[in-house]
Amino acid sequence: METSDNCSVKVAVHIRPLIADERVQGCKECVAVTPGKTQVQIGLHSFTFDHVYGNGGSPSSAMFEECVAPLVDGLFQGYNATVLAYGQTGSGKTFTMGTGYNDNCQTGLIPEVMSALFNRIETLKHQTEFQLHVSYIEILKEEVRDLLDSVSMGKSDTSNGHYGKVTVPGRQPIQIRETSNGVITLAGSTEVPVTTIEEMASCLEQGSLTRATGSTNMNNQSSRSHAIFTITLEQMRKHHSVSLGNDTLDEDMGEEYLSAKLHLVDLAGSERAKRTGSDGLRLKEGIHINKGLLALGNVISALGDDKKRKEGVHVPYRDSKLTRLLQDSLGGNSKTVMIACVSPADVNGEESLNTLKYANRAR
Ligand code: ADP
Ligand code: MG
Repeated sequence: METSDNCSVKVAVHIRPLIADERVQGCKECVAVTPGKTQVQIGLHSFTFDHVYGNGGSPSSAMFEECVAPLVDGLFQGYNATVLAYGQTGSGKTFTMGTGYNDNCQTGLIPEVMSALFNRIETLKHQTEFQLHVSYIEILKEEVRDLLDSVSMGKSDTSNGHYGKVTVPGRQPIQIRETSNGVITLAGSTEVPVTTIEEMASCLEQGSLTRATGSTNMNNQSSRSHAIFTITLEQMRKHHSVSLGNDTLDEDMGEEYLSAKLHLVDLAGSERAKRTGSDGLRLKEGIHINKGLLALGNVISALGDDKKRKEGVHVPYRDSKLTRLLQDSLGGNSKTVMIACVSPADVNGEESLNTLKYANRAR
């Protein structure tokens, strides 16, 4: 299993328990984990992944340490990273990522990322100066929407000291741009500077609330949009001068400045868009979402295929806003983890199989 270590894309499956709704309906479980293996069985199909959590696999509590903590470590070394939660609506993507709006407590991978990040900063701050920024956007119908617009309003004067970036209130449409050295930026999006874990958690909460209230009962947008919470970590080594008599010698500390970002993505529901009468609008959304997920599948599959990579096969980042935005954080030196979320219920069997096939293709 360690052989996949050189591969930049890891795939984990998270099988949630049956929820009350499903139990009331009398659902049976149709997804099984092969004991002692990272293999999932559904019907006559079986698939092997890097990790399997829940339903007899590893406990979900291990997911952060095994899948995401290495990406947080990488951030401190200047490597970009992406965590993607994939699956049909109701499969547990939001629960797994922690992008739900939740009054009392936040659980999920993002809150764990925050703790790990701030703990690490605490141990390093005597030698390194850190700057953190977060952005939180959603992509719906191939349009980028700022989820932190209102957060930035009260904070527009706290951007002092931000190394070379500008916080722009996100009124104008957000545009994805690429700098000459291949860095992807979101022109017009709010980047909130944060110095404490509370401030970062508040951005997550506010953005998640904005996302939730943007949806209606009729047309639940949050299941049709990709939500992307991005943490940017900038580091400046503090200058250490060693005094040698009259001379001062600047200690060589290697890289003086590092910047890296971690994208935490709660993807749109992967279920096939269902035509609802003559509702053309809804259909259009479905098509667009498929565009992002389709492009993502193609990009990840191209990245995961060593042979294709060596042959220099074109990676189709430009086929959707989602893949374009993630371009500098998928492939190359960056690390990617896809968490395929599935419901174990037999009524969801067909979609769960689709999810496992998609995830299998990403390996
Ligand atoms: P999605 O974001 O994929 O649409 P949600 O994260 O909203 O799905 O989860 C759907 C329902 O299942 C929610 O009620 C959620 O609380 C519940 N759920 C999801 N994952 C788990 C889990 N691991 N343990 C218990 N309940 C879960
Ligand atoms: Mg959700």
